[in-house]
Amino acid sequence: MYFMGGGIAAHVYSLVAADTLGADAVHITMRDRSHVMPDKTLCVWGEPNPVIHDAVVAEWGRLRFGYGDTSIVRELETIRYSQYTATSIRALTDSRVVVVRETGEAELPDPACDVALDSRHTDQVRRPASISLLQHFHGWRIRTNATTFDPDVATMMDFRVSQSDGVCFVYVLPYSPTEALVECTVFSAETWPQALYEDRLKVYLRDVVGVADYDVIASETGAIPMCDKQPVRQRGNAWIAIGVAGGLTKPTTGYTVARCVRDACHLMQQYRSTGTFSPPPTAHWRFDWYDRLLLRIIRDEPAVVPRILWTLFERNPVERILRFLDEETRLREELLIFWSLPWRPFLRAIVRR
Ligand SMILES: Cc1cc2nc3c(=O)[nH]c(=O)nc-3n(C[C@H](O)[C@H](O)[C@H](O)COP(=O)(O)OP(=O)(O)OC[C@H]3O[C@@H](n4cnc5c(N)ncnc54)[C@H](O)[C@@H]3O)c2cc1C
Repeated sequence: MYFMGGGIAAHVYSLVAADTLGADAVHITMRDRSHVMPDKTLCVWGEPNPVIHDAVVAEWGRLRFGYGDTSIVRELETIRYSQYTATSIRALTDSRVVVVRETGEAELPDPACDVALDSRHTDQVRRPASISLLQHFHGWRIRTNATTFDPDVATMMDFRVSQSDGVCFVYVLPYSPTEALVECTVFSAETWPQALYEDRLKVYLRDVVGVADYDVIASETGAIPMCDKQPVRQRGNAWIAIGVAGGLTKPTTGYTVARCVRDACHLMQQYRSTGTFSPPPTAHWRFDWYDRLLLRIIRDEPAVVPRILWTLFERNPVERILRFLDEETRLREELLIFWSLPWRPFLRAIVRR
């Protein structure tokens, strides 16, 4: 197996290949233009996945959502919200399977390999499409002097911040009562200057969390595509795009890792039974349509988005929403979800292009 690009997707697919086909049966070469893998905070919800579970660095059993002047906390009963890092995923891969690493540009598949899995993408992640937005963020890992956080409650979306420059929420992953990653996340067409994210973080920490005395011990910045056009995955014979480059990012949430795990399982199981590699069919068209509607609303009516997302979590069981975001619900559940939402923006989005 030849990986063009050796980032998160390449490591996840390698782990799944070793698990499905046997570590001794797979020969992995990864070619990346850089030998340094930038660290990232990567979160996934769901049942513990045995293939990557040993790379978990933190877990939460409750999720908080904030809007207006209130917040709610929802218990996860059968699943967990788990955090990995690029470092933990790479270390797990190196402990499970031999990876030959090459440094340099990857331009064409290596003809000696049975399959090329291509995750090359540029830093300019915004794709040409009829709706092309970004989920962009900047966060601080902070340490406080006073007890500030509940380490069992991760804040998934807190809209109690200014909404003046795009849909904006804060995401908090607490690691102890005095340490947390606090990220300002935005859905809009362009990234912000760093000072703008930092202003939002300062105001949130002061006014919502109630803490003024803290040290910033690390920071994280990123941008993920939110668009309605998916790239062609089959790039040639046994040459398949994976990860962000393969369109595995859920357009409306940015979550990619869990979809890579599912895609890799499908790809490797199919290879085990047929001896050929080909990308699995895409999800049902309904989910594609729901994503398009929400993207249109984010583009055209950003002011209503916080209320829609808040209502989604406030009026529905949290695990149903997470399954919906994983595209694993049935039509009946989806109708219940849509019934609970403010419907006018969706009607307007249906008639708009
Ligand atoms: C800061 C951040 C946090 C994120 N958090 C989450 C999260 O919590 N949960 C989630 O599900 N998703 C998350 N994502 C989205 C997604 O999971 C990550 O972007 C993830 O890294 C995608 O993996 P990838 O392999 O597709 O891309 P990357 O990890 O970016 O790997 C692509 C690799 O290709 C290499 N490359 C590019 N061009 C070439 C070339 N021509 N030749 C050779 N090598 C090349 C690059 O150097 C890079 O190493 C996050 C993204 C960011 C940026």
